[in-house]
Amino acid sequence: MPEAKQTILIVDDTETNIDILLDILNAYDIVVAIDGESALEIASEDNPDLILLDIMMPNMDGYEVCRRLKNMSHTKDIPVIFITASTDEDSIERAYEVGGIDYVTKPFKPRELTARIKTQIKLKNLLSDLNFIASYDYLTKVYNRRKFFELANKMFAQENEKLFAIMIDIDKFKKINDAYGHPIGDEVLKAVAATIQACVSKDDLFARIGGEEFAIICRCNSDEEIMQKNEFIRQSIEELEVNIENGIIVKVTISNGIAEANDTDTLDSLLKRADDALYEEKGEGRNKVIFRN
Ligand SMILES: [Mg+2]
Repeated sequence: MPEAKQTILIVDDTETNIDILLDILNAYDIVVAIDGESALEIASEDNPDLILLDIMMPNMDGYEVCRRLKNMSHTKDIPVIFITASTDEDSIERAYEVGGIDYVTKPFKPRELTARIKTQIKLKNLLSDLNFIASYDYLTKVYNRRKFFELANKMFAQENEKLFAIMIDIDKFKKINDAYGHPIGDEVLKAVAATIQACVSKDDLFARIGGEEFAIICRCNSDEEIMQKNEFIRQSIEELEVNIENGIIVKVTISNGIAEANDTDTLDSLLKRADDALYEEKGEGRNKVIFRN
């Protein structure tokens, strides 16, 4: 029995098939659709862990349903197991071509069906874990360095007009680790990341790119706007209080270096200028925002 109940969407136009499947899959939460149109709707809304999809259905057959599911970003990763009466190679080949991950034949073999479902759900969870690890920082849960460069390059390629890079560094972070130990340092990093994340808009790219270094790529209409944004972030961190055990409160400040993309910039040169601005202000006493054009 799965610990947290997983949801399976059964799509079949034949009531007896549905009844048999409900009986076999009683360890799961089940949602049912009796035609392709409603299957697409339910899959979009309920985000099931797996879909059992009948091939032969009136109006829209299973192949077409699967093809559409695989074309929508929010349903494309849901594993689809086809249900089929036919075992001819053509129909099976087609099931894989449209994006099916497996198929089962009628009449159902309960233990085999359950085993196949378990395997596919396990694989799907593994893939989403891997995807998370590849894109997010394990500690702060914001984007990691690899994902930052992937997405930053995309933003840069799209349009570099009014595009800004911000490099952020926690001031004297080493002292926190030295004074309180690394577990507390980690708590500070988490709190700082969460605070900055809350300050940026959803179109901004924000990531942890190094130990105590964060970066933002964003679009802003004016120099005033980007300065305000950075002042807001800087101030929010200045006001942040990280509570650790025994009533001790740790406070930190950050320094932000900003650069605006120009016509000759590459992403690297833009980030380099933001980094230069950051180091310039480190020399000027920290807890500052410096904009270098
Ligand atoms: Mg049918």
